[in-house]
Amino acid sequence: MTTLVLPLTTLKGVGPRMAERLQRLGINSVEDLLFHLPYRYQDRTRVVAIGALRPGEEVVIEGEIEACDIKFGKRRSLLCRLNDGTGSIMLRFFHFSGKQKESLSRGVRLRCYGEVRRGPAMLEMVHPEYRQMDEAGVTAVEAHLTPVYPATEGMAQKTLRQLAEQALALLRQGEVKDWLPPELLVELGLPNLQQALLEVHQPVPETPVFELTDGEYPARQRLALEELLAQHLSLRQLRQKAQQHSAPQLKPQGNLRQRLIKALPFVLTGAQQRVLEEIDADLAKPHPMQRLVQGDVGSGKTVVAAAAAVHAVEAGYQVAVMAPTELLAEQHRRNFSAWLEPLNMKIAWLSGKSGVKQRRENLALLAEGEAALAVGTHALFQDEVVFQRLGLVIVDEQHRFGVHQRLALREKGSHNGRVPHQLIMTATPIPRTLAMTAYADLDSSVIDELPPGRTPVETVVISDERRDEVVARVHKACAGEGRQAYWVCTLIEESEALQCQAAEETAALLAEALPDLNVGLVHGRLKPAEKEAQMARFKSNELDLLVATTVIEVGVDVPNASLMIIENAERLGLAQLHQLRGRVGRGSVSSSCVLMYHKPLSQQGKARLAALRETNDGFEIARRDLELRGPGEVLGTRQSGMLRLRIADLERDKDLLPDVARLANALLQQWPQNVAPLIQRWLGDAQRYGDV
Ligand code: ADP
Ligand code: MG
Repeated sequence: MTTLVLPLTTLKGVGPRMAERLQRLGINSVEDLLFHLPYRYQDRTRVVAIGALRPGEEVVIEGEIEACDIKFGKRRSLLCRLNDGTGSIMLRFFHFSGKQKESLSRGVRLRCYGEVRRGPAMLEMVHPEYRQMDEAGVTAVEAHLTPVYPATEGMAQKTLRQLAEQALALLRQGEVKDWLPPELLVELGLPNLQQALLEVHQPVPETPVFELTDGEYPARQRLALEELLAQHLSLRQLRQKAQQHSAPQLKPQGNLRQRLIKALPFVLTGAQQRVLEEIDADLAKPHPMQRLVQGDVGSGKTVVAAAAAVHAVEAGYQVAVMAPTELLAEQHRRNFSAWLEPLNMKIAWLSGKSGVKQRRENLALLAEGEAALAVGTHALFQDEVVFQRLGLVIVDEQHRFGVHQRLALREKGSHNGRVPHQLIMTATPIPRTLAMTAYADLDSSVIDELPPGRTPVETVVISDERRDEVVARVHKACAGEGRQAYWVCTLIEESEALQCQAAEETAALLAEALPDLNVGLVHGRLKPAEKEAQMARFKSNELDLLVATTVIEVGVDVPNASLMIIENAERLGLAQLHQLRGRVGRGSVSSSCVLMYHKPLSQQGKARLAALRETNDGFEIARRDLELRGPGEVLGTRQSGMLRLRIADLERDKDLLPDVARLANALLQQWPQNVAPLIQRWLGDAQRYGDV
């Protein structure tokens, strides 16, 4: 590819060492430098009268030294009083040389820049930047506000400013192209690239500084819009590339699907049926499906996935079902076995914890095509895993997998130039506009209906100082009403061992406090067989109370359980709490969830727990989570590196999102030649993953 960006070495003073430091700031090109925006500004454009100063301001002042003395006290300091006819201010230096003291003598005129603070006797500036003025005092002040850039160690503001200035000079000379046509910008009332960048880097003195760092300032918005557009176009390009691949057309004629559905102890909801039809239509096409199925906790995504899997198997292909954790994977294995083995389908199990022999056997089953399905974790990615004819990949809880992993999995299944279909399921509902940006490479289906007979869970938020009352409540529900309850322990420590230990201690304490109840315990360190035994006892109502770490987040289905206690609820994410809560409210009796928190609870913590108390709707919870924590956390992009935004902020700039899709269409249709350079500018090498 020809270079579409200007290399850093275009700039004076950038050698290998400097380039490396810049790279640490994510700056790899002149363009990157231009998009490295100031986070605040200093006003060195005017001289402020000393008499008018207020503490907290950062300003330029000028005056004449009235007196300059060393003060000996707790800390030796040089005190220098400056007067400009309107008032006086003290300059205070803790570190100074003898030469410095000499130069700062009475009668000398200075120009200083610094922060004004309240001092013991009068206003002060501590260690101001200063310059001696000659008689005439004519040195000009700055012509524009001074930018302050995000920097790293070993990278002085002065250096960044000089480099930015060089980059801006190139911009002024027209060396940096604007890929957004003026027609589009005029309509939105936004400035062109050159205007926007100059305004942000070198604002004229009158510019309101607070608005300038605000995301809503037109110049910033324009840059955010360009970034979002590049992200969106990149995802669409990935999608297009995917559509150029061929995939097996899965149009089975048999009756396996009907047999599966007939055998279920329930009828599919309208939403499940609709989504299944959308999936079937995709599977019948000669190009790979890339569909995201969103559905709230308990909406019944698994059976939809199983029905899709049956389709693929009946058409003569294998299916891979991948989950992000061992426990979720185990749960899928159990469900898929129960539903599909009666239809004579063999399931291979690939978990990180399988023994060598079992693993080898399962790998052979897959390679020879004996096993119709593979269920597992990331272990499915590994090189030794070879499918005979992979037709469909089902990924559960997509937000924990990044776009690159999705692509890698597709690669893995490619066979005779064909790639498998992909079905991605998530219980973290993603607001539509966000989905359009973050998942523009996927089609999306929503299971927007819960199976009948579910009752909303009543949620209360209680301080753990009232633990005794909560224990009494558990007793009443179990001993008094014959219900069952969960008690979930969370611990801030990352260590699984500590979590398990805490759960063990809690279980012992609760067993002691509730002698007439049977208390069970599950945590991540139990052997799978032990875990299953505990779960089975809980399911058969032998156990009244199940103490657990967050492992029960997934896959427990006990309709008689109607009470959920979550300790230290403030430590968990909203989505996770919502998932946990989804374990109750599965029967016909009304259920409740007690969110216990440990004081002090932050303002944000309060708002988050309140969100759960106020609604049972996963979409609404996701929306509030987004508001409170931002999309990086909600989508798990921090870990997966899915969307790395530099200027835009999906929450703050959400009003731009509808424009993004529209502008993308316009650009693709009328200015297709601008698309590649735009993507290259913002995503650089990241985009190349799309070629895998
Ligand atoms: P999720 O969407 O959270 O993964 P699951 O697939 O685990 O939900 O389904 C939750 C529970 O609801 C399971 O016990 C499942 O068997 C049951 N279920 C699924 N679909 C229906 C339905 N249409 N009617 C009744 N129960 C259903
Ligand atoms: Mg599920």
